[in-house]
Amino acid sequence: MSRTFDYIVIGQGIAGTTLSWQLRRRGLRVLVIDREAHDGASQIAAGLITPVTGKRLAKSWRWDELYPAAVAFYRSLEAETGTRFFHERASLRLFADDAERDECHRRAGGIIAGLVRQTPPIPDCFTALLGGFELLSAARLDVPRYLEASREQFREDDSYLTADIDLAKDVELLPAACGIAKLNVQARGLVFCRGFTPGSDPWFGGVRFNAAKGEILTLRIPGLAEERVIHRGIWLAPAGGDLFRCGSTYKWDDLNCVPTAEARAEIEARLRAFLRVPFEVIEHRAAVRPVIDAGYPVFGRHPAHPQLAYFNGLGSKGSLLAPFFAEQLAACLIGEREPEPALDVRRFLAK
Ligand SMILES: Cc1cc2nc3c(=O)[nH]c(=O)nc-3n(C[C@H](O)[C@H](O)[C@H](O)COP(=O)(O)OP(=O)(O)OC[C@H]3O[C@@H](n4cnc5c(N)ncnc54)[C@H](O)[C@@H]3O)c2cc1C
Repeated sequence: MSRTFDYIVIGQGIAGTTLSWQLRRRGLRVLVIDREAHDGASQIAAGLITPVTGKRLAKSWRWDELYPAAVAFYRSLEAETGTRFFHERASLRLFADDAERDECHRRAGGIIAGLVRQTPPIPDCFTALLGGFELLSAARLDVPRYLEASREQFREDDSYLTADIDLAKDVELLPAACGIAKLNVQARGLVFCRGFTPGSDPWFGGVRFNAAKGEILTLRIPGLAEERVIHRGIWLAPAGGDLFRCGSTYKWDDLNCVPTAEARAEIEARLRAFLRVPFEVIEHRAAVRPVIDAGYPVFGRHPAHPQLAYFNGLGSKGSLLAPFFAEQLAACLIGEREPEPALDVRRFLAK
């Protein structure tokens, strides 16, 4: 006898984990499967959530809907799992040049009003001749802890398996259902949350990525007592005790998870431009951000096989985007709504 579920979710990165919770909250039985190759973007993501981004200080896309949804979701899950992984704290942005400072002063009373605080205290260990500003409503998701706490709960409920699924060979399409014979499991639907995995999907392989490789360093910085994330071109984020994470680079070719000397030198040089105390590099990792289109999420059902669905394209903002759009996809899967047309995977397959 096969074990049966309502949904099977393939991939336990930020997308698959968050979708699984949203489906479970609707009373559905969900099996989560991951190959645990530790090369997914979520394995190294810093989990930063910031309301204002880029040199032009643009307000983050759909911030007013996405941020409250993320806060409510992560807080309630912290309570449910008894684990702390979501840290709300203002972050500090140091001005890199006069143009950035002038732009901040110009815009502070406009669209980004309420999201920034001007002239915050800046400790001596940072070079900040032009000053900076604080980003209020910023947060950091401790992604490894979030994934681990979720996996533990899924395991405890007997709804998690470690397996590498070969989509072409292992997935069986049945009338109005699907199964994975080698695991002896069936469900009425299967959702692919596989991040950037080119060339291996017979159904959604037509979706085109504009993926970006990123590299991150873990540093030991003795004596640096700073709890805020610092931004100045790159970011420096606290990781407990005297450990910090620093990154990240963007590269649109060479899409693999191999750290490079070039990226390490770039991060170190940019860090030295504002950090005045010594640091030691203790880890260096790389992964590929699953960017589709302009970095918007893409989800929904397959046009010919409605028992198959897709959730991907979280790009460089998975922590902020996942709760809101996983909730939308869960509502689609139970027939409450359709995906927003601009984000519907059918649009990307038709191209
Ligand atoms: C350097 C870097 C820095 C980043 N910093 C931030 C940040 O500060 N804030 C932020 O919000 N986002 C950040 N991101 C982006 C974030 O990492 C992504 O948005 C997010 O992790 C994407 O999650 P995902 O679940 O879609 O994909 P992934 O994390 O790649 O997860 C896919 C999962 O599917 C599994 N899988 C794939 N195929 C199979 C198969 N056939 N069988 C079984 N399992 C399978 C993989 O093992 C993997 O666990 C960063 C990314 C990088 C690379």
